[in-house]
Amino acid sequence: MTEVIYESGRTVPVVSTADVVVVGGGPAGFSAAVAAARNGASVCLVERYPYLGGLASGGMVLVLDDMCAGAEITVRGICQEMIDRMQRHGLAIYPPEHERGHDPAAFRKWSRWGLFDFNTRTRPHPICYSVAFDPDGWKRVSDDMVQEAGVELRLHSWFAHALVRDHHMEGVVVETKAGRQAIMGSVVIDATGDLDVAASAHAPFIQGAYMVTTVFRLGGVDTDEAERFQFDEPDRFHTIDREAKRIIGGSWDYWWLKTPLPGIVWCNCPHMTGLDGLKVEDLTAAEFEGRRRIHALVEYVRANLPGFTNCYVVDVAPQTGIRQTRLLDGEYVVTKEDVTGRVHFADSIARGRDYYTPYRAMLPKGIDGLLVAGRHYSATSQAQKISREIPPCMAMGEAAGTAAAMALTAGVKVRGVDVPALQQKLRAQGADPGDQPAADARMLETQADA
Ligand SMILES: Cc1cc2nc3c(=O)[nH]c(=O)nc-3n(C[C@H](O)[C@H](O)[C@H](O)COP(=O)(O)OP(=O)(O)OC[C@H]3O[C@@H](n4cnc5c(N)ncnc54)[C@H](O)[C@@H]3O)c2cc1C
Repeated sequence: MTEVIYESGRTVPVVSTADVVVVGGGPAGFSAAVAAARNGASVCLVERYPYLGGLASGGMVLVLDDMCAGAEITVRGICQEMIDRMQRHGLAIYPPEHERGHDPAAFRKWSRWGLFDFNTRTRPHPICYSVAFDPDGWKRVSDDMVQEAGVELRLHSWFAHALVRDHHMEGVVVETKAGRQAIMGSVVIDATGDLDVAASAHAPFIQGAYMVTTVFRLGGVDTDEAERFQFDEPDRFHTIDREAKRIIGGSWDYWWLKTPLPGIVWCNCPHMTGLDGLKVEDLTAAEFEGRRRIHALVEYVRANLPGFTNCYVVDVAPQTGIRQTRLLDGEYVVTKEDVTGRVHFADSIARGRDYYTPYRAMLPKGIDGLLVAGRHYSATSQAQKISREIPPCMAMGEAAGTAAAMALTAGVKVRGVDVPALQQKLRAQGADPGDQPAADARMLETQADA
């Protein structure tokens, strides 16, 4: 048994009181905070790191995907606004409409950006609407958007524990350089990705797990030469690429992808299994093992892979690539069959590529005043693995923030929000809540069942 010590009781200063407290400034939390503030709520957004973006900036996950079904764009709203703003700074890029589909020339042009639909069975995968972006572009635009919306942003603040009275959230305590601080709120949105707040509030959850990745970027890459080699000398390319993947020890087929910064590529690898993203020992081991493999790979590709002769490590992502830890066991648990079967829910508030997320999947059982948005939403482990990309997490965040503001305006609990009114509001904001099912959706429920 682990040895324990007892901490003495202490007083904690209340540093902020807001209508809505959002914990976690990743894609889901940022979207929730902006949406709540735009709908009239006072909002305090708490983030442990010195920037917004979560895995999209600090995790250097630099492709937005899972946001279209064929030609239809299914995630819009704040996500699309983020894309438009980054594009205006020259820091986001996506294939124009006429270059999407199965044209081999388009595949040669766009595949090394990672902008293809990897959910299709056809090979090569079709080029689709997805977006390559720069992590500092994300930070810059999210800073602008939270400021414009009037959100109170508190960086460098680690969530420590939930303040709950009579099964109702009253706020959170955070750990900071200045000691512990309390932030009080009428509604709290857990957007930590690891369900830190809801778990601390004793909401039921399941323990999930998936591979861990220490994403990194390489600079000094001659991407034109690397692409020429891949397409014009496929046999030699496959031999060297296979060895590179053996050395990195776990990657997708395309282990490096272009970014809007010339000569800088991001590498969604090495993947490591059997690690728990909540354990300090496992996170430390992942960083050590990841960096060891990265440096071994760099030595190999410098010596062998055309285009990579002068490459160097720019950075290893400061946020470890954790895909799945705790998952909410909420009022509805989304299953793999729901996602792959395109099951439509009458209380749908967000879409991914061709699947729908019900409002109930953001509602914890047994606790009021709490919503959960992002990769720790209420789903089975298998379902979450195929439904947790950045755009659907942003769509969920936008719905959670809007719902929180609506609940406060109407004077009802978040579980009592008028869902058809929420859907209408989301649509008016430019989002797609999935209230209008696509022709291939499976209809299992009527509105009265929801
Ligand atoms: C290696 C990897 C590759 C991926 N590839 C893709 C891809 O190509 N395309 C794609 O769209 N998606 C991809 N994903 C999935 C996607 O990145 C995540 O599912 C998505 O970012 C989840 O958003 P989120 O806001 O729920 O969580 P996160 O992005 O994890 O954000 C959570 C935020 O909460 C903060 N936080 C956490 N705990 C605390 C605390 N205790 N106190 C204060 N703040 C806290 C974090 O610092 C962070 O800012 C990938 C994920 C990984 C790990």
